[in-house]
Amino acid sequence: MSHEGIRIVPADRAAEETARDAARGYGGDLPKLSISAVTPLKVRVKKSEGTGVEIDWHDGHHSAWTFPWLRDACPCATCHEEREHSGRLPGEPMPKDPNPLALYHPPAKPLEVLPIGKYAIKFKWSDGHEGGIYSWDFLRRVCRCEECAASHTGQEVQE
Ligand SMILES: [Zn+2]
Ligand SMILES: [Zn+2]
Repeated sequence: MSHEGIRIVPADRAAEETARDAARGYGGDLPKLSISAVTPLKVRVKKSEGTGVEIDWHDGHHSAWTFPWLRDACPCATCHEEREHSGRLPGEPMPKDPNPLALYHPPAKPLEVLPIGKYAIKFKWSDGHEGGIYSWDFLRRVCRCEECAASHTGQEVQE
């Protein structure tokens, strides 16, 4: 067992188009990101610590997400549609069940993390879900750092 988690270092850009196709499923016509913005230098999946995923990007940017956030941002068609219907953004948790007797759902964590080619990773979540393919492009677009969060908000506010 590795104590450092999974490291994925892409060596070529062959999958770049595939990654863009995968990202198109999310949000429609998005502005193109530069290749260095969607190329991870280092991917740290802190599975044994249970904390989340960190990526150092080729353009010097750094992103980090917690596992429950990533679970709620699942880019698969089912979760994407479900979010559209309920008006949630990727990563936004489902509203709490008002029923005090509702079952407690522990925060999601990955049982397995699998690289998909050189352009994405996928998780087998503790709740049994595993449909989402998290492309680098998708992950960069949902970066949660202050700088990106500010620009995401800016886009939503503008009419
Ligand atoms: Zn999903
Ligand atoms: Zn960022």
